[in-house]
Amino acid sequence: MQRAARQAGRDPAGITLVAVSKTKPVESIREAAVHGVTDFGENYVREATPKILALADLPLRWHFIGAVQSNKTREIAEHFAWVHAVDRLKTAQRLADQRPYHAPPLNVCIQVELVSEPGKSGVTPADALELAQRVAELPRLRLRGLMCIPPPMTDPGVQEARFHELAQLQTRINALGLALDTLSMGMSDDFEIAIRAGATLVRVGSAIFGPR
Ligand SMILES: *Cc1c(COP(=O)(O)O)cnc(C)c1O
Repeated sequence: MQRAARQAGRDPAGITLVAVSKTKPVESIREAAVHGVTDFGENYVREATPKILALADLPLRWHFIGAVQSNKTREIAEHFAWVHAVDRLKTAQRLADQRPYHAPPLNVCIQVELVSEPGKSGVTPADALELAQRVAELPRLRLRGLMCIPPPMTDPGVQEARFHELAQLQTRINALGLALDTLSMGMSDDFEIAIRAGATLVRVGSAIFGPR
């Protein structure tokens, strides 16, 4: 990550690593935390909640990076600091209603589907603008930015162009008066390319914890 940032003329401090720990045991998360990782990503609520509770002695930030099912919003709002894949106003409203009053605002990103694929989630780039404006108005949420999961990389140039598209969309949204500061993009295979295109947060699993 540092090398990719320097090559892009960026400050490495401006890029957060979210270590994706889905399917990995609590011991592996503890070991990563010893080495300085502070942010962890999980996809499944039922798996994540026991791990979060078992690691409550550590000052970790938990990111929910999976698809948000309506019947899981309460647990997500109670246990996580970030939600990356909001793609419907209704989901955001439920998270806002269910975020505990004593907790700081829940950081959220809107998931954008840059390349239309059957069965994949995310709003179209065209719909992202309006959803961002609506989500930004909700209480107890803090809209931080945009997130994408493009199809697996086949051509580095094509992947970089997709990441640039998300960055440009964020610039357009900010021109409307929002102050989004987060681009959640890049995984084990393409995080260096994402950093070149402006990622402020990369979600890396297998390159840290090994294959799942
Ligand atoms: C699993 C997952 C990752 C991590 O993928 P790796 O290829 O293991 O780095 C990142 N983002 C999301 C949304 C995921 O579901």
